[in-house]
Amino acid sequence: MRKIELNKRQERILEIVKESGPITGEQIADKLNLTRATLRPDLAILTMAGFLDARPRVGYFYTGKSGTQLLTENLKKILVRDYQSIPVVISENVSVYDAIVTMFLEDVGTLFVSDHGGLLAGVLSRKDLLRASIGKQELTAIPVNIIMTRMPNIAVCMKEDLLIEAAKKLIEKQIDALPIVKETERGLEIVGRLTKTNITKAFVALAQED
Ligand code: ADP
Repeated sequence: MRKIELNKRQERILEIVKESGPITGEQIADKLNLTRATLRPDLAILTMAGFLDARPRVGYFYTGKSGTQLLTENLKKILVRDYQSIPVVISENVSVYDAIVTMFLEDVGTLFVSDHGGLLAGVLSRKDLLRASIGKQELTAIPVNIIMTRMPNIAVCMKEDLLIEAAKKLIEKQIDALPIVKETERGLEIVGRLTKTNITKAFVALAQED
């Protein structure tokens, strides 16, 4: 994601406009003992980044955008593909026992299940596996497709979706992970995994950017 980091001169311009705006480029240049031409790139950056607005014959003024507004604007630029993880996929005839082992070995909380054609067929959460384990069944004998949540009831997202939209799905459906899929003629191919951890990482990165 792009990072807007202002240089000293841009910070100074921002202060001047906050204090004396609306103010012309010429007047800002005077205050800084610089020429209007020298200032042009800085003013362009500040305007494009949304800190300043310019009106003809009035000059520059501070948009008054709060940190939160700028944060929201940045948030809406983050896509799922910027924070995705690698999916852990097992096939549908794998036993519940092996699924549990895979979950530990791969250190993930959600497994995706693919059908014989390699397409998305189901999802397995920790609790799905726990639920299957408290019965008296032989875990090596039950295939995961008996206990998984299956298509078409699976919430998915795509690489190009906004991260915030994927986060909303996680909350609405009260789930921990979404398979990231690619639509093909045959069905949905699993290309990634988006979890609450990915969202948390994006959240922390946004804070550091400010
Ligand atoms: P846990 O049950 O371990 O807390 P989740 O909250 O992710 O984990 O899962 C809750 C239920 O929702 C489980 O039965 C799981 O199979 C199902 N589930 C998980 N992810 C999805 C998804 N992307 N779409 C539909 N159902 C899901």
